[in-house]
Amino acid sequence: MLIFLPLERLSFQHKQKIFRQEFLIDLLYYFLNSLLPKLLLVLPLSILAWAAHRLEPIGIYAGVSTLSVGTRLLLAILVGEFGTYWGHRWMHELPVLWRFHAIHHSAKEMDWLVNTRAHPLDMFFTRLCGLLPLYLMGLAQPTANTGDIVPLLYVVVGTIWSFFVHANVRWRFGWLERLIASPAFHHWHHTNDDPAHFDKNYAAIFPWVDKVFGTFYLPKHQWPSQYGIDDSVAPSLVGQLLHPLIQPKSNSKSYVYVDEQKM
Ligand SMILES: [Zn+2]
Ligand SMILES: [Zn+2]
Repeated sequence: MLIFLPLERLSFQHKQKIFRQEFLIDLLYYFLNSLLPKLLLVLPLSILAWAAHRLEPIGIYAGVSTLSVGTRLLLAILVGEFGTYWGHRWMHELPVLWRFHAIHHSAKEMDWLVNTRAHPLDMFFTRLCGLLPLYLMGLAQPTANTGDIVPLLYVVVGTIWSFFVHANVRWRFGWLERLIASPAFHHWHHTNDDPAHFDKNYAAIFPWVDKVFGTFYLPKHQWPSQYGIDDSVAPSLVGQLLHPLIQPKSNSKSYVYVDEQKM
């Protein structure tokens, strides 16, 4: 709040209230998602770390362990980005996962706090997809007695950047926006203007990953004028947590687009 509230006041793109309608509920998500997804990750990541350590050809582990923490962190951010990209894309393309991810996209106004507005199982799944390649490639090497600082730093860097790209901040980075994600890049991921621009910009930090997989969309000076989804979600936190479980059918934006094209 100390960083983003002044920043959004000085450099806002959309004129909106700081304490907008869903501010309180998103604050509750902040506390819930600071804890629950991490607790859920303990067991699968422990099993993964153990299995990767046993099955991995020992050469990879030994080779990677000689790299400095800085180099391993840079490689982790790079490798993790591909896992995050596909985890996020599956969230949009598989209807069963979209039911969970729809909560994040239901925000009608964008600001830094929208970052925390997500179903805990959505956070769990995308985080798992990002961390999985780190363990498989030996970039995270916990031993019997100590953890590894690289996955921790990877999560911290990713979290800070994730708050920034949701922020209501009008800064544009010119050509650099193709290399590093900006608020405009991620705001276009949340657009509800034109179905032709839905399901773009899945990357968390590196937009060129979207370029590689054909999902990049970032006009030079424009911003979306509307955010959110057409599906309605419950107004309460409990209702939203139950939304994916009780709502039998909820279509991804991409499916809506296909249907419209067919029509
Ligand atoms: Zn999304
Ligand atoms: Zn988002």
